[in-house]
Amino acid sequence: MSFPHEIFKAYDIRGIVDHSLTNDMVELIGCALGAEALSQGVNTFVIGRDGRLSGVSLGESLAKGILSSGCDVIDIGQVPTPTLYFATKEFQTGTGVQVTGSHNPPEYNGLKMMINGTTLSGELIQKIKQRILDQDFVQGSGTLEKREMLSAYRDKVVSDVKLKRPLKVVIDCGNGVGGAVATELFRGIGCDVTELFCEVDGNFPNHHPDPSQLENLQDLIAEVQKTGAEFGMAFDGDADRLGVVAPDGSVIWPDRQMLLFSRSILEATPGAEIIFDVKCSQILPADIEAHGGKATMWKTGHSFIKAKLRESGAALAGEMSGHIFFNDRWGGFDDGLYAGARLCELIAANDQSASDVFGALPNTINTPELRLEMAEGEHYALMEELNQNAHFENGAVSKIDGLRVDFDDGFGLIRPSNTTPTLIMRFESHTEEGLQRIQGQFRDLLISTRSGLELPF
Ligand SMILES: [Zn+2]
Repeated sequence: MSFPHEIFKAYDIRGIVDHSLTNDMVELIGCALGAEALSQGVNTFVIGRDGRLSGVSLGESLAKGILSSGCDVIDIGQVPTPTLYFATKEFQTGTGVQVTGSHNPPEYNGLKMMINGTTLSGELIQKIKQRILDQDFVQGSGTLEKREMLSAYRDKVVSDVKLKRPLKVVIDCGNGVGGAVATELFRGIGCDVTELFCEVDGNFPNHHPDPSQLENLQDLIAEVQKTGAEFGMAFDGDADRLGVVAPDGSVIWPDRQMLLFSRSILEATPGAEIIFDVKCSQILPADIEAHGGKATMWKTGHSFIKAKLRESGAALAGEMSGHIFFNDRWGGFDDGLYAGARLCELIAANDQSASDVFGALPNTINTPELRLEMAEGEHYALMEELNQNAHFENGAVSKIDGLRVDFDDGFGLIRPSNTTPTLIMRFESHTEEGLQRIQGQFRDLLISTRSGLELPF
């Protein structure tokens, strides 16, 4: 059998169970992770798993591999990914693995890994792969302990978040693992909760657990309107991402959620630094600065954002994909459930109704993510050429992740995906004419750099 190089991705390990991601391979990954942790002076892993049907047996293989290196394993069972991050802090190991396929279809599973406080990505994941190819392992015999962490996690959120008044909300867990704790958690902080798909079911029989796609929010939108709730919250398959629906049925995408979170943080911590990824609306940094904060734009990707958060000590970070990281009263990891609880807290503290709070948020005319699919590896080469050819007279150019140009009235972005051979584009402006003009400038750049491209706009 050939080695499944393709499962070692930019931010995680991911593949189709029993095909590219087998139990034997996961055991070898466990061996490599154990050896890598020991080389950094760490000898205890926390492991957890989401609600996928393959999770139990893959988790056992993972534990077997880690134990064979001599590292100990604390198995916290079926939990949201943020509960795993929380547990690595509680047990002071900074080291853990979540068996999760996140928002991918049921036949997928994967691993999100951290060692010594660092989330593995890019070269660090390649290093694990190389250890397996070289059989660079160590022999030992660790011990396995099972611990229940869901109640400690829930209690910590409930003790941290205080609601000034009760709120009527709908939560949609999409049958993901968030359902294992979400209802208790939101009732615990004082919400009147209507549940949608909170039974953990790895077949995802209702809709795909990915709140970044509008089609997956339709059930939540209907339920919010039917029940007259103040708002709705949706979580992805492993509950590290949050989606929000306003009472009028409109979606509050993460960059506009970040407006509310940033204002609330800047009230408590004047001058705080807030990080956002290159896909976010330019109204976010403008609003952060107008409220006295320091706005820092950074590369897309939860491991990049987490690394920047650690290095800078910023109070908050957020990505357009829905990963929100609170680093003021929370541990600086992406946690959809905690972000949802903080949204409840700030809405309950506001004198206005939820409807008025959401309605008053500034907005722009913008495109969703547009995708230009290319052959393997080609998208990086084209991105480099585009960056060489880019000359924008009236815009501020940033090349921290692809090419983003901010104009007075909007922005354009082209960036290479780290997970698929695709260029991702996004455009926004305050006016329809502005949007056309910005798209026109980017179209000119693309066409003059490479003729024959079939552009998605
Ligand atoms: Zn996720």
